[in-house]
Amino acid sequence: MKLYNSASHQKEEFVPHDPGKVRMYTCGPTVYHFAHIGNLRSYLMEDVLEKFLRYDGYDVTRVMNITDVGHLASDADTGEDKMLKGAQREHKSVMEIAKFYTDAFFSDCEKLNIKYPDVVQPATGMIDEYIKVISKLMDTGYAYFAGGNVYFDTSKLDHYYVFNDHDEEDLAVGVREGVEADANKRNKTDFVLWFTKSKFEDQALKWDSPWGVGYPGWHIECSCISMKYLGEYLDIHCGGVDNAFPHHTNEIAQSEAYLGHPWCKYWVHIAHLDTAGGKMSKSKGEFTTVSTLEERGYDPLVYRLFCLQSHYRKALVFSYENLDNARAAYEKLVARVAALTGEGEVDPAVFGQYQTAFKEALGNDLNTSLAVTRLYDVLKADANDATKRALIESFDQVLGLDLLEKAAAYREKQAAPAGGEDAAEIEALVAARTAAKKAKDWAEADRIRDQLKEMGVELIDTKEGTQWRRA
Ligand code: AMP
Ligand code: ZN
Repeated sequence: MKLYNSASHQKEEFVPHDPGKVRMYTCGPTVYHFAHIGNLRSYLMEDVLEKFLRYDGYDVTRVMNITDVGHLASDADTGEDKMLKGAQREHKSVMEIAKFYTDAFFSDCEKLNIKYPDVVQPATGMIDEYIKVISKLMDTGYAYFAGGNVYFDTSKLDHYYVFNDHDEEDLAVGVREGVEADANKRNKTDFVLWFTKSKFEDQALKWDSPWGVGYPGWHIECSCISMKYLGEYLDIHCGGVDNAFPHHTNEIAQSEAYLGHPWCKYWVHIAHLDTAGGKMSKSKGEFTTVSTLEERGYDPLVYRLFCLQSHYRKALVFSYENLDNARAAYEKLVARVAALTGEGEVDPAVFGQYQTAFKEALGNDLNTSLAVTRLYDVLKADANDATKRALIESFDQVLGLDLLEKAAAYREKQAAPAGGEDAAEIEALVAARTAAKKAKDWAEADRIRDQLKEMGVELIDTKEGTQWRRA
């Protein structure tokens, strides 16, 4: 496949370090609050990437951290720990809220058909690893101790700004809003590996270390967790685009300094989900979650389709109006799939032809909207229903829209309630309406639609004919 690599700023042919194997790392959530649908856009698109690689025959191992310590309210190593703020807000312990929001995160993922990673590692469970790596960075002169903290010395590197779409001035800690320069840093881009001192003395979680009792910085956790489970050569590292700097930049700096060779080959950054007011963010306090969508009556998979309809490298604007369009499209899609009878034998030539087109779409830097179009192409295809159903089942291994399950539920709902004594009558009325439409008797067609509506039946007109369901 071709994949855009934000480290090289171009689409590249994807060639993993070991043929047939993919080692993939994802920055997990900071579990001080619910994940919002912006965070979940990142995980959802990463899920499609993972599933496509598997579909394409790779043996994928995916590792994710859970940030339950060290992520400060400011990326510039100042501010309070986000976990601590969350615990104070809810009058609970840090570990209590970590457990609660980790579970909530994976429950949201499940609703969106995001696969559980092969390895999930909370940051608090890896302290010995951080100490091991930081000790080596100290021994080799990449790290220094100042004012009670251990810092990474970015001046020791030949290249620091790997994701150089950033302006060096913008990276300067001092110019970022609300951020105070840390006088202990030798260079403005240096970052903390281990804290024993901060303005906020009440850090709840602390561990002993060669540099004093304290806690790790946020960046070191991802490097160590990745190296521990995936080894010295990582194929894909993913995250939202806001993680590119400083988080991923610092991960590269410390991992390569530690290993003494290049570390991760492909960097995949998911663009943000925005609202009319800008990027959706947890720290703004007001945000939309999967539960919000459910409370408003949306099937979470409508949001999945909404995300699939646009490219992962383009910012996506969320509004309920846009989501309603996705809902209408999803409902129509399910109704069309429900209309397939499954008759006939799967035609391998037709199957192969449509599958190739589907793979080509996703193989071109994960063009998910084209992949969805390929699904519509199958529905329109000159092929028997068995072939169409087999293709839909196959594509859905990657798209994750539960189309066959939803179609089965749709048909069941048609038959309900109590065996659906009135189903035959409804079918007859739908047929009469179709005949009226054919005869261009619009008044009669509308009258029948209204009659059905009063019976609690909704109609969906599709290319395969009119489908109905109980409202
Ligand atoms: P956090 O829980 O804040 O550590 O973020 C979890 C993931 O969500 C990271 O990969 C972020 O880059 C990503 N992220 C944060 N905000 C957004 C957004 N508005 N749209 C898409 N991804 C986001
Ligand atoms: Zn990370």
